[in-house]
Amino acid sequence: MDSNPDPAALSPERAAGELRALLEAAVDGVIVIDHDGRITTFNPAAERLFGYRAADLIGERVEVLMPEPDRSAHGGYLQNYLRTGRARIIGIGRDVTAQRRDGTLFPASLAVGEIRGSTPPRFVAFIHDISSRQAAFDELRRERDRAQSYLDLAQVMLVAIDGGGRIALINRKGCEILGYTEAELVGRDWFLDFVPERHREAARAVLAAALDGSAGPPAYAEDTMLARDGSRKLIAWRATLLRDERGLPVGLLMSGEDISEQRRGERALKRSESLLRSAQAFAHLGNFEAHVSGGPLHWSEQMYAIVGRDVGDGPVDPQEFAARYVHPDDRSLYQRDWQRALASTGRFDLEYRLLRADGSTRTVHSLAQILPGADGDSRVITGTLHDVTERRLAGEELRQSQERLTHVARLSTMGEMAAGLAHEINQPLTAIATYSQAAVRMIDRSGGIEACELRDPLVQITAQALRAGEVIRRLRGLVRNRATHAESLDVNRLIEELRVLSEPDARVNDVRLTIELATGLPAISADPVQLQQVLLNLIRNAIDATLEAPDAPREVVVRSQLVADGVEVGVIDHAGGIPDDVAAQLFNPFFTTKPEGTGLGLAISRSIIRAHRGKLGHRPTPGGGTTFYFVLPPLPGA
Ligand code: ADP
Repeated sequence: MDSNPDPAALSPERAAGELRALLEAAVDGVIVIDHDGRITTFNPAAERLFGYRAADLIGERVEVLMPEPDRSAHGGYLQNYLRTGRARIIGIGRDVTAQRRDGTLFPASLAVGEIRGSTPPRFVAFIHDISSRQAAFDELRRERDRAQSYLDLAQVMLVAIDGGGRIALINRKGCEILGYTEAELVGRDWFLDFVPERHREAARAVLAAALDGSAGPPAYAEDTMLARDGSRKLIAWRATLLRDERGLPVGLLMSGEDISEQRRGERALKRSESLLRSAQAFAHLGNFEAHVSGGPLHWSEQMYAIVGRDVGDGPVDPQEFAARYVHPDDRSLYQRDWQRALASTGRFDLEYRLLRADGSTRTVHSLAQILPGADGDSRVITGTLHDVTERRLAGEELRQSQERLTHVARLSTMGEMAAGLAHEINQPLTAIATYSQAAVRMIDRSGGIEACELRDPLVQITAQALRAGEVIRRLRGLVRNRATHAESLDVNRLIEELRVLSEPDARVNDVRLTIELATGLPAISADPVQLQQVLLNLIRNAIDATLEAPDAPREVVVRSQLVADGVEVGVIDHAGGIPDDVAAQLFNPFFTTKPEGTGLGLAISRSIIRAHRGKLGHRPTPGGGTTFYFVLPPLPGA
């Protein structure tokens, strides 16, 4: 207080009166406390704020107006200030929470000053209720959060960049795509940190042009962005100019969609389409689609190539296809099968010939399926057309050369049996010669001969000639090269007929051939010559193996029996068995352990048995040796 006398100075009474008026008129709460923290003044605005009457509070400690933790700490603050002069609030002011008489709290801004000239010091506090300001502030924050959550909900990346190219705002999707948090992104240089170097200048130029108004931002652009993990994302952008309240451009708001996956997908699709095209070209395979009751048709490129039609002429439906391209000889078959597929089976599977416009013929195999259409009645036909001309020709050639090979192998097996067969024919010839000589001697005998005496030698000669003839007949049957055919066969008879040929072979090698036939076996369907070829081969191998093992019992058994899968014929030897390394290669063509072997016998035997839907294998003979066997299914109904 100024102590100089001043004519304009107020009298103490007037000053006190004005102060009271001031306190009463003030909208802020005014509270004066002494150095001990006791309230000495509490104005009407404070009464309204806190719900106390001044009379109730004068002399009370000011802590009653504060919630914890300030309530407990306040005495300490005050003492500290009085001792050190270091203020925590005096002359600073801050927002605090105040407590009303009824215990409710309200946010308040508090300014505290020390009243100079009073000893011990006193303090005055101005309190202003900021509940409504706080509420408005909270509302604003909620608005901002709501806006942010809309941005975050967006499945596209939203970025605002300011005039300096810095990120001002980015939504969650944007953070996800780039791999950073929002805090890490806001304020970063968009161009420097996220645009690959080679696009950087061009991208900056776009912003500059938008800002100076020389060119608006592009309506659509695709650009690569650098993500945190080093990957590049292809983003499709749309941008609009951001303006301030005066309408001046201040930055860009951009929405971006990560189209990396979509592009990869498109590229993969293109690649697989082109792969499919070339695969179809390699395989001479086309595919088509048609609707049963008309509608869009589709032919792949190869369809045109196979039927010899111009791609520009477009596809034709199955009816027109029949008339134009199916060979006249196969047309009724083709149409019958289509009718059947449409009416009942839903499947078309036919090999037929095409007659192309240039007059050439192709063999094709077509597979198709009729599927229910989306609208219920227009069914969809999808199918493939496979040009199998070359394969057919190759297949036919293959079949012929297999047949020739089989024949050669048969001849070779018989070559191996030649010694025994020669002996077998030689024996009756010798016998015939002996009986003839005897008859001649009888005729030359002095005293003549009764005609009846010649009967016996002649009967013998006939029998021996028939025996030799039988061997030759069987041999001729095997030597002839003839087309394969299947007939109903009795396996036992087949084995018996073979005895004439294999027994002599065994005999010259000093091996006994025993035949054990089961009775009541069902008939099978097979080519007799091929089956004999297999048997001869197995017997030949068994004899060879027996000769290789000098101490082995010299016997080979041929046995027929009924097994679960049909009729089994086994050829059993008691020789040395088959070592593992040989077993692994037995059926490989040209594999042989014999100096004169061809290595074809087992390979061909197996393919013959397989062609008869049977199986050929081997197992050890109990007590030593090997049993080769084949099993053939019984004739249906047999
Ligand atoms: P090749 O008789 O001309 O050698 P195969 O294909 O008939 O041709 O036989 C291949 C090989 O299988 C024979 O060289 C032989 O090593 C072996 N093999 C075949 N049958 C028997 C058997 N019963 N015992 C032991 N080894 C056998």
